[in-house]
Amino acid sequence: MKLNLYNSLKRNKQEFKPIKTGAVGLYTCGPTVYNFAHIGNLRTYIFEDILKRVLIYNDYTVRHVMNITDVGHLTGDRDMGEDKMEKGAAREGKSAWDIADFYARAFKKDIADLNILEPDIWVKATDTIPEQIDLVKALEKKGFTYRTADGIYFDTSKFKAYTKLSHQNLEALQEGARVERNPEKRNPTDFALWKLSPPSSSRQMEWDSPWGVGFPGWHLECSAMSMKFLGDQQDIHCGGTDHIDVHHTNEIAQSEAATGKPFFNFWMHGAFLIIQGGKKMAKSEGNFLTLENAFLNNSINPLVFRFASFLTHYRKPMEYGDEGVEAARNGLRHLQNQVRQLSAADAEVSDFIHIDFKNKFLETINDDLNMPRAMAVIQEMLKSDIRDTEKRATILDFDRVLGLKLDQLDKERALPDAVQKLVDARIKAREAKDFAASDELRAEIEMLGYQVQDAKDGMKVVKK
Ligand SMILES: [Zn+2]
Repeated sequence: MKLNLYNSLKRNKQEFKPIKTGAVGLYTCGPTVYNFAHIGNLRTYIFEDILKRVLIYNDYTVRHVMNITDVGHLTGDRDMGEDKMEKGAAREGKSAWDIADFYARAFKKDIADLNILEPDIWVKATDTIPEQIDLVKALEKKGFTYRTADGIYFDTSKFKAYTKLSHQNLEALQEGARVERNPEKRNPTDFALWKLSPPSSSRQMEWDSPWGVGFPGWHLECSAMSMKFLGDQQDIHCGGTDHIDVHHTNEIAQSEAATGKPFFNFWMHGAFLIIQGGKKMAKSEGNFLTLENAFLNNSINPLVFRFASFLTHYRKPMEYGDEGVEAARNGLRHLQNQVRQLSAADAEVSDFIHIDFKNKFLETINDDLNMPRAMAVIQEMLKSDIRDTEKRATILDFDRVLGLKLDQLDKERALPDAVQKLVDARIKAREAKDFAASDELRAEIEMLGYQVQDAKDGMKVVKK
């Protein structure tokens, strides 16, 4: 079935086709580890997790890279302001390295609590300094850079397609009002590739380079890492909508200027989370909600937040408040109870996935990850008059995308993984009318101590 995704580059939904048949390179911008992630950030990571799970559900192999920004991100996205890591270090009286380590761990815990699949490759900015320096050298050689008193900058006027993602009107664009303008920059949109350490003081994180001691600009790491682990041309790059105008625009400019090739074919962005009353959540607001203070400390399962995020399409702002959390809590509990009842009805049974409902579900998630509609399909399936065993097999199959751990509600009743794998393979073989393979798989299942009973419309597997 076709998978259509909204591509920010083209500003419409397009059929997704990877560069290499069957395999997808996915890059998602990771956290700046100077503080906890707030739930607005985490909403974006849940959206990216759904995307990844949908790709896997569509039988793609996914190679997923996520960076950890542990250097170079300043409080102003346009290279002005304080260094976030050093600011965090000063706030807590620790070294920038300790701060990075602590908050990277906290982030990984959040990811695990939300049942977000881990990337195949985690990579820290500080672990790819040589690659980042090489990228600046390549840009320098091609004439895209210039030097100022505080660093090496990318001249955006030399990259003609600079606004291809943001569609900004450059003439109307003013440098951010919160930070002072850098008079040495040739164009307001020019950005730092390498920042020099101040001559009078040294920084906690700094490296030698052909241009002097300093540190990489924030945007550089994502280009250097994605090219290192995924190649010059790749499939999907994601982040929050706030990355479009500066961060992702600059990533594209420096990568395509260096390689002369299109960087990523698809750019996808998750919308903000808005606190009831209309305020956008941001770390700079000082008080922000984390998974710990909003969920764990109130004895609310973090999966409630995951469930809540399914109820708003990822490209729409999500309203967040106590009522919404309560509704999601009830919604998740209700779904868990529905699944528990199915399990109790017929223990140790595996069955066909209901193909009509599976197609309906696939149609909704393949329509730009339409989770609100997918949730409606799930209820329609659970309330339909198909057999309980079929409902169970079908909802557990859907849970490969939902990630709500519905298979763990009754672990003791579930089939062992090895048996389940054979059963799944046999279901596929039967769907393909490959009866030889189906008979072989039956024999393998029986060797593990389970009996297979075929019926006209399904298959039961029970312990011998
Ligand atoms: Zn990034």
